[in-house]
Amino acid sequence: MPYLLTPGPLTTSRGVKLAMLADYGSRDIEFRGIIKKIRTSLLELAQCRDNYECVIMQGSGTFAIEAALGSFCPSKRYKTLVVCNGAYGERAAKILNRLGRPVVTLDKGDSETPTPDEIVSVLNADRTISHLWIVHCETTSGIVNPIAAICKAVAGRALTVMVDAMSSFGAIPIDMASSNIDVMVSSSNKCIEGVPGFSYALVKRTLLEESEGICHSTVLDLFEQWAVLERTGQFRFTPPTHALVAFQKALEEYAREGGLAARHARYARNAEVLVKGMREMGIETLLRDDQAGPIIQTFLTPRDASFRFETFYELLRRRGYAIYPGKLTKRPSFRIGTIGQIDETVIRGALTAIRDVLKEMKVTDMRPLEG
Ligand SMILES: *Cc1c(COP(=O)(O)O)cnc(C)c1O
Repeated sequence: MPYLLTPGPLTTSRGVKLAMLADYGSRDIEFRGIIKKIRTSLLELAQCRDNYECVIMQGSGTFAIEAALGSFCPSKRYKTLVVCNGAYGERAAKILNRLGRPVVTLDKGDSETPTPDEIVSVLNADRTISHLWIVHCETTSGIVNPIAAICKAVAGRALTVMVDAMSSFGAIPIDMASSNIDVMVSSSNKCIEGVPGFSYALVKRTLLEESEGICHSTVLDLFEQWAVLERTGQFRFTPPTHALVAFQKALEEYAREGGLAARHARYARNAEVLVKGMREMGIETLLRDDQAGPIIQTFLTPRDASFRFETFYELLRRRGYAIYPGKLTKRPSFRIGTIGQIDETVIRGALTAIRDVLKEMKVTDMRPLEG
């Protein structure tokens, strides 16, 4: 199978894959111990104090997003401000619209970050905004939003701050307690390097307690999920047992690697080697270096008439590297993920493959397409 140079699911370690060779019953005492350990580890990793809770939700990351929006966002009188600079912000706004919850957006396009001042002026202009939703690393382009500075700028307001840290959690620091973040969501198959199957929300306990009966959905109700996890140590409905056991293994490997600092360093090195190598070929990045994080890199499509993304993708895949086929930004571009169980040796291999494939395709003019 090829290396996955994508934003998830990612290449996982052999240990994580092997952990899934055991079958656990959902009520098994050892399995319940694993759930408990995972919840505690995640709270520690986000630097939560003991006024936070971790609620695990079956399903991909979007399930935790819809669960959090449905469990905490107001349905009348007050509004949620969604800051958008890519597809994931837009998706959160779409979910709120679908749920009939009042929403306003601040749209920064594809390659700009919102400034704290800008957010403050939107809040000042509309006193009915009670909730803020913002993406930490907008995986559409890989841009990293200044969460800590934004939280500092809105401190002291009656504002519930909710962060989608799906693609950054575990690799880019987030300090929930000192930033006073109310809700953070992430999932099993991103920077912790587990397999897909569940997502989780870290939430202030008081907010959870106040959310009883608010959620539009039974399965996505974070209050009920939390209450049953607390009371029984079990999920309400069948848990993704293998994904959870694999995740516990991934957390152990994460600690052994050296935790967040080591993981950040490995991903940052992957990104650095990749961007340098691509630039040497003449391929440009969408973002400036001070905007791009270590998670995923966006490259502008070469204008050479011989470049076809589908061919490029397929030839790279045959050489053992699966890049990201989605095209979400407005400018013609493609993305290469730098996270997962890969290091700079893998990235160097990918660069060699890219060089060979471009030659085979007879692509020589790497300047970006206009648009
Ligand atoms: C991966 C990701 C999600 C969740 O996507 P799923 O396909 O539901 O797992 C949400 N937000 C961001 C920023 C992501 O990177």
